[in-house]
Amino acid sequence: MTFEIKERDLLARIGRLKTKSGTVETPLLFPVINPAVQPISARRVHEDFGFDALITNAYILKKHFQRQLVEKGLHKFLDFNGVIMTDSGAYQILVYGDIETNPEEIVHYQERIDTDIATILDWPTGWKVSREHAEHTVDETLKRAKELFKTKTRRDILWVGPVQGGRHLDLVANSALEMGKLSFPIYALGSPTEVMQSYRFDVLVDMVMTAKMNLPVDRPFHLFGAGHPFMFSLVVALGCDLFDSAAYAIYARENRYMTEYGTSRLAELEYFPCTCPKCLKTTPKEALEMPTDERQIFLAEHNLYVCHAELKRIKQATKRGRLWEHLELRAHGHPTLLQALKRLKKYESFIEKHSPATKKSGIFFFNSVGLIRPSIVRHRRRLIERYSPPKEAKILLLAPQTHVKPFHKSKEFREIKKLLRSTFNKHLDEAHICFYAAPFGVIPIELDEVYPLSQHETALPPDKETIDYVAKQVAHYISNTDYETVVLIHDPENWNRNILNTCRKTCVKKNIDFKYLSIKEKRSKTMLTSLKRILQKALC
Ligand SMILES: [Zn+2]
Repeated sequence: MTFEIKERDLLARIGRLKTKSGTVETPLLFPVINPAVQPISARRVHEDFGFDALITNAYILKKHFQRQLVEKGLHKFLDFNGVIMTDSGAYQILVYGDIETNPEEIVHYQERIDTDIATILDWPTGWKVSREHAEHTVDETLKRAKELFKTKTRRDILWVGPVQGGRHLDLVANSALEMGKLSFPIYALGSPTEVMQSYRFDVLVDMVMTAKMNLPVDRPFHLFGAGHPFMFSLVVALGCDLFDSAAYAIYARENRYMTEYGTSRLAELEYFPCTCPKCLKTTPKEALEMPTDERQIFLAEHNLYVCHAELKRIKQATKRGRLWEHLELRAHGHPTLLQALKRLKKYESFIEKHSPATKKSGIFFFNSVGLIRPSIVRHRRRLIERYSPPKEAKILLLAPQTHVKPFHKSKEFREIKKLLRSTFNKHLDEAHICFYAAPFGVIPIELDEVYPLSQHETALPPDKETIDYVAKQVAHYISNTDYETVVLIHDPENWNRNILNTCRKTCVKKNIDFKYLSIKEKRSKTMLTSLKRILQKALC
């Protein structure tokens, strides 16, 4: 088995990828090494910056260093013992139109230089292209993918099967479906570089998700050209296990300084917001005064540190089950990232299906953006598919969430329970208590200890969109159950009238009895007296 998954969160996986040059942990970033213009040597990328793998371009190597490379082999040539991936020159097709090689030649060349992970010479779709051209790139890439299995002679190299189609999502789906029938150990999304350069991360979400949903889900997935650390958490959360970055070096050439939440121009900085060994010893002013070559190396090194640090944060968050929280934090670094995060709504069922049901930590709910989270989608789905209220229950008593969790251990609840016991005694089962709570919606009392219904932190009052969501869940619950009476305990301090109005409207529509009382009265015990009266009336 080439790829073993150890931990999951959202669609992210901490995994182990076995190659002939060693096993590496995913998610894995391959810094791009261009031997023709390389600010930091491959050896240093490994030894000083801790990257276990790198990617280089087989087409460029062939063009400039053909003989040297075949004699020495790629690892010796680059002086790098880790895992080496080669891209095929497909990106050069995208930029220059055509290149001086052919699919068969590039397969044999990658075998001869002894790469670990190799890419077929796919035909990148590009972004602003006609549907006709996009169709052609999908067909041609698929044809070349099929030919690989006749052409290749070695079995120890992991080949990458790239999915094409660009922004034509039906073509991406078809490309992924057909590519998935071929036994590639790694799949990839081909050349979404232009989409990323123009910050269309919402389109990127569509492309990655469409590919993932149509490929064998347990196979590793590579995203070509995912360069900036501020988007790493998004692509990892979408299930991109491998990605490569040339941005650390390109940005350095343009005097751009990366941070995990964006980019700054060196000239704009008074202070370095970083404590990497480079930034600790230098000021932005000093960096600006460096000779060009020295400054480029300085920036490239800092950029690599930032990339590595962000990747480690993402792995830690994945292990603790807190990748969503990390993702929300990063999404507020740029409006387009937040827009992309909201786009996950479209894929919430798929994400829920492939996310683990229990985690090591509870969840932090910030605002309505978080309603897409798998645990919230899962509770909603399970309540519809798997839950029915107790058979004896005639009265639904809807109580607001309490600050104490689980809710049934709160003082407020204990008072209600005491009242029910003293009033009804043997009829106790006829009243069923459910809580309405942000962000989960309706929580039947017997479930309130199930993960994560009590293991979350939410500030009250919730935002308007979250209240609307909870109101919708309450309406849905009432519509799909058979209570004779609904009693709502309204908490006007934390919940607006939407809960009250929706509840009433649903009961009127269903022609069932509806009563409500306000929690404002609770301190004077009037609420309990009113509740007693209402419940007594409902029972007889
Ligand atoms: Zn730094």
